[in-house]
Amino acid sequence: MRTILILVISFCFTTAALAQISIVRNGKATGRIVVNQSHTTDLKAANILNSLIKKITGVTLPVVSVNTKIERGDLILESQSALKESGIEEDGFRFTSNDSTFVITGSKGSGSVYGVVTMLEDYFGVHYYAANSCTFPHLKELNLPMNISRTENPSFRFRQTQAYSLATDTLYKIWHRLKEPREIFAGNYWVHTFDRIMPSGKYGKTHPEYFSFINGKRRPGAASQWCLTNPEVFELVSAKVDSIFRANPGRHIISVSQNDGNSTNCSCEKCKTIDEKEGSPSGSIIYFLNKLAARFPDKEFSTLAYLYSVAPPKKIKPLPNVNIMLCDIDCYREVSLTENASGKSFMKNMEGWAKISNNIFVWDYGINFDNYVCPFPNFHILQTNMKLFKKNNVNMHFSQIGGSKGGDFSELRSYVVAKLLWNVNCNVDSVIQSFLTGYYGKAAPVIYQYMKIQQGALLGSNIPLWIYDTPITHKNGMLNPQLMRRYRELFDNAEEAVKADSILLKRVWQERLSIQYAELEIARTSAIENADQIRKELSLFRNRAHILGVTSLNERNNTIEAYCDLYLERNIPSAKSSLAHQAKVNFPLPPDKPYDKIADKALTDGLLGGATFNESWVGWSGKDGEVIIDLGEVKEIESVQADFLHKLGSWILLPKSMSCYASTDNLTYSLIGKKEIAEDRSVEVKYVNIGVKANEKIKARYIKVHVETIGLCPSWHYGVGYPAWFFMDEIWVY
Ligand SMILES: [Zn+2]
Repeated sequence: MRTILILVISFCFTTAALAQISIVRNGKATGRIVVNQSHTTDLKAANILNSLIKKITGVTLPVVSVNTKIERGDLILESQSALKESGIEEDGFRFTSNDSTFVITGSKGSGSVYGVVTMLEDYFGVHYYAANSCTFPHLKELNLPMNISRTENPSFRFRQTQAYSLATDTLYKIWHRLKEPREIFAGNYWVHTFDRIMPSGKYGKTHPEYFSFINGKRRPGAASQWCLTNPEVFELVSAKVDSIFRANPGRHIISVSQNDGNSTNCSCEKCKTIDEKEGSPSGSIIYFLNKLAARFPDKEFSTLAYLYSVAPPKKIKPLPNVNIMLCDIDCYREVSLTENASGKSFMKNMEGWAKISNNIFVWDYGINFDNYVCPFPNFHILQTNMKLFKKNNVNMHFSQIGGSKGGDFSELRSYVVAKLLWNVNCNVDSVIQSFLTGYYGKAAPVIYQYMKIQQGALLGSNIPLWIYDTPITHKNGMLNPQLMRRYRELFDNAEEAVKADSILLKRVWQERLSIQYAELEIARTSAIENADQIRKELSLFRNRAHILGVTSLNERNNTIEAYCDLYLERNIPSAKSSLAHQAKVNFPLPPDKPYDKIADKALTDGLLGGATFNESWVGWSGKDGEVIIDLGEVKEIESVQADFLHKLGSWILLPKSMSCYASTDNLTYSLIGKKEIAEDRSVEVKYVNIGVKANEKIKARYIKVHVETIGLCPSWHYGVGYPAWFFMDEIWVY
């Protein structure tokens, strides 16, 4: 079988090699580029083509106008305006050749440009892996195939990723046929736009009735929503939308979409009536959007189906010029959407929307947002999920893969996702292998093996893969001690394979950061015995990240430098020991489920939690907390400190105050001190140490710590009107 296959391949190759149109031979131009120089896109395509042909061969082709007599070797760039008749859709292109000329035909959009980059990749062997990571063959001859007709149309009309390369390399975006919201959405209004369109800061005080009624009152705020049944809101929004379109001629789509807050929709009588009838808060949203879409029939309106509004309405159908931006943020990603409960629930919603709309934008998530630098083996589900989107009338797609530098397989992830956005049926394994070979050189087979072992281990572990996991989530699964040893060996081998090439070696280092980070995170979940070893590993992690220019740890702007500093400060055992170490605790005001499970030990075990609160943290929701620590015997104390988590995205806010009391008999308590805690609106995750100090030493056996909650999330927060959490992971008594 194998022999026959090889014979067939070589036969085809030979035939193709014989029948070709030469455009460069012996280092000299034998072809020309024929282009309508007044057509901006075609001219841009011609310029890209010629500049890259120069890089490959050192030759520049003559560029002539379309009125010139066509000659053998001509490469003709053209765009057609009639979309349907040509069979070429927006951004699509066609290659047509006879025995002497080669034509690239584009249509509306960037078709001729995408035809050129496809030609460069498929026929001339140019590969674009990441910003400034493009490989060119050096050739004396360039040929194109004769007598072909090949049409390519994109799988999705709008294709967006988050590759870091987009920010610094304009050709990268073109090469991967990606778009950015500001290119199509008027005024860059593309998501979470309610507060931009009708600011709560401007109208909240004078017209609270324009905003959501939540928990008994109107609560205007940047994360609150609109009262969608208020006619004055509709008129104000219409006028604003009209002015945005006027200020942005040439743009036809705008997003009118809920702010980023969960369950903050309006529940006034009128809104509630619609939403109950429609079986989902998306009901009142679609009523509002349809009214806008009817008032501006030549424009398109995008709106979110996200968190509370993800389920489709039962009766009303969005008008064709209403675009539904559907988000699968709550899904686990170890298997595709049809294979686990979270995915099935999303599928039900997506299928529901597909029944009433064929204008759907899916916002999908494909990286760990709390820990960019952390293994996230989801390559095996990407294609299946994208095919499901395509099947369900999705025509616009944003794959939020958090493509920051140093993120898990950031370059590969961006590359594969871009290929799929263009052609959902591409051969993903061959795309991955081709990327690895080009990007990691001799280390490619080992890296591929690493990916496969980790993927198998994830599936075998039955632990879900979530976009807010930590490595600790998987410490008994795909990151267990045996597998971590295996990954270390594989990376040692990968480094050895490319040690002579500093560029490739750095790429391997960069991928290894995920495993180094996982080791450090897992190490701090038990008492650190070999502190020197951990210091060494921390320093290697920090230094390599610095050399590689990897700075971001997560989507909340925490940096690797700060992480390393905090690790030394928080997790390496210090000489100063707490009198409360391993003391018994009682809870007059107990914590809340599910963050009460480890409460009996966590506050005095000496272990501090990380940004993701699946270990070490104890949490209270919307009410005060109270802890009594029994030191076992009367001791002399002078200060009490506690460690709190600040993580706005998870509704974990700092409490209002902390008061500490001392007692010798657990009956009569005297106040040691009270600390008021300032509000903090910054998005970074923080660990905040709050302490009280006595004026002089006090004798005490029992320490009572009373923490006063802020109650409900404030108006500026995503959870406005709902209980705020506060989290503690340790209390120290000195
Ligand atoms: Zn309302």
